[in-house]
Amino acid sequence: MKVGFISLGCAKNLVDSENIIGLFEDPFFEYEYDLKQCEVILINTCGFILSAKEEAIDTILEIAEYKKDNLKKLIVTGCFVQRYLKECREEFPEVDLFVPIEDYPKLPELLSDLFGHRFLHTYGKNRKLANSSYTAYLKISDGCDNRCSYCAIPLIRGNCRSHPIEDNVAQAGQLLDSGVKELNVVAQDTTYYGHDLYGHFALKDLIRELDKLPFTWIRILYMYPDEIEEDLLQQMARCKRVLPYFDIPIQYGNDEILKLMNRRGSVQLIKDKIALIRKYFKDAYIRTTLIVGFPHETDQTFEDTLKLVEEVGFDSLGAFTYSPEEDTKAYDMDGQIEEEVKQERYEKLMALQQEIVRKKNESRVGRTYTALIERYESLFDRYVARSYMSAPDGIDGIIYVKSDEELKIGEFYEVEINGYQNYDLLGIMKKKR
Ligand code: SF4
Repeated sequence: MKVGFISLGCAKNLVDSENIIGLFEDPFFEYEYDLKQCEVILINTCGFILSAKEEAIDTILEIAEYKKDNLKKLIVTGCFVQRYLKECREEFPEVDLFVPIEDYPKLPELLSDLFGHRFLHTYGKNRKLANSSYTAYLKISDGCDNRCSYCAIPLIRGNCRSHPIEDNVAQAGQLLDSGVKELNVVAQDTTYYGHDLYGHFALKDLIRELDKLPFTWIRILYMYPDEIEEDLLQQMARCKRVLPYFDIPIQYGNDEILKLMNRRGSVQLIKDKIALIRKYFKDAYIRTTLIVGFPHETDQTFEDTLKLVEEVGFDSLGAFTYSPEEDTKAYDMDGQIEEEVKQERYEKLMALQQEIVRKKNESRVGRTYTALIERYESLFDRYVARSYMSAPDGIDGIIYVKSDEELKIGEFYEVEINGYQNYDLLGIMKKKR
């Protein structure tokens, strides 16, 4: 049977999708990219905010239409199913099997029953990369022990369960053997890693071990500001392969709102941590995420946030307008903000960030960076590449590279920056790395 996959949501969900794809490695199935040709389609959903839920519903409805043609079995998994299993079963009769996250270990049996064919692989033991062979995510833990008042993730994914260091290193080794050159370490909160298992933050111990494997780049995502301790930075500085890339969602720039969000730390602590990072890494690339329009936000608290953004000068910034999620603490808070106001503030924040990035990009002209080639765009006759300054999740700016000679996808080259365009850089290939 021809089988196709759709993975919605974040990198953590993508790792789950890749573990599910591996279950279908069997002569009975054949992977097919053209979904219209597929007899089996599996959608791995996200469901943590309104836009993600809407995307999940739209995708299920759109794919269910394929049942009029080739599609015989439609399977839906992921956060949206975990959160709304009962409603899913009622609303989508076209779906043949719903699998919530907690049932993933039972997937081989559930699929065997559905297809009347025995699935032999164990979930999590035969991961197959979905997109490229040279970059992959390493999910070092599941769930989250924090209780940010706006966030539904702990309700969906449960408390933090760190995978032992040796398991993570073994998984990284397999990825390396399969050709991965860039390893991206992910979790809901990577800096919390190990606390549930070892009684202390163990990210520094893990990266010390990962750094022994000959990847070209190791990148750490999703760090919680107050858990970035000096000994972690010292370990990162000692590592040969760990990039000076810091993805630190700060969420807001005013202490009262941070408290309402149930975030630990203060604006001053955020500033101190960023100063500490810059003390150790002159070229630190710092990315953050912010929420605009949280309950009780005022013009003043929003101005405080803009002030912090300007003062810190984040290299990359993603923002969401606050989406009230049922069963979270913030859902029932009074002082909810009108959508129009949220949108206006969002646009103001992003306009400020665009100006910050423009100045940063200007300062990068003339510099040379190692860049990983991702694809060729014939329309512009340029290659699309990422330096240490962009994670593979499409949030950061990229480099459009001009080259007289043909470049290899998945290889590293030295690229000199000779211009910029909005959030992106323009460059010329100088030599292979
Ligand atoms: S750290 Fe906060 S925002 Fe992130 S997953 Fe955990 S509870 Fe949600």
